[in-house]
Amino acid sequence: LPEYAFIGRSNVGKSSLINMLTDRKSLAKTSGRPGKTQLINHFIINDSWYLVDLPGYGYARVSKTSKKKFQKFITNYFEKRQQLISAFVLVDIRHKPQPIDLEFMQYLGESGIPFGIIFTKADKLKPMAIDRHVNEYCEELLKTWEEIPQYFVTSSSKHIGKEDVLDFIGNINEEIEQLKNQ
Ligand code: GDP
Repeated sequence: LPEYAFIGRSNVGKSSLINMLTDRKSLAKTSGRPGKTQLINHFIINDSWYLVDLPGYGYARVSKTSKKKFQKFITNYFEKRQQLISAFVLVDIRHKPQPIDLEFMQYLGESGIPFGIIFTKADKLKPMAIDRHVNEYCEELLKTWEEIPQYFVTSSSKHIGKEDVLDFIGNINEEIEQLKNQ
């Protein structure tokens, strides 16, 4: 089955987003201990695709060794996944573009892995501020990318953006099915 990977800095709202997308109240639980949960969780959605929950990155207080380990773990994942269709990088909509996220997108691009951006916690900003932050982000991306990746504005607490993300994935899966049946 096709896989879609979700990744982002710790505390970006990944567990909440996954709970929203999978209609579960509390399953993708955050561990209170950064760097502890180095496990990959798979959720099967509609019997048709896997949502892959990758551990959060960017803990300020972990050692160099565990940062290295983490990088290895993540690169191992991305190198091995035959079924991976796309990654989604989660970004807190309130924050300015962060080097660690931009570097990660760079890595995905260089590895030939398609990705989209999911802005989280949109309920924390007024609509005008959302537009401004998204535009600023896109401008930053255009410094290194020719095109702006697909992006989604979401809020797990206000249930915003769920259908956009699910429809996007559903459409790709349909295309894949059609190609298979040709
Ligand atoms: P993770 O570490 O990336 O899995 O992040 P969590 O999903 O555990 O969320 C981190 C914190 O942000 C928690 O306190 C959540 O309640 C909060 N949070 C997550 N999503 C949203 C959102 O859409 N809106 C608001 N206001 N807070 C959120």
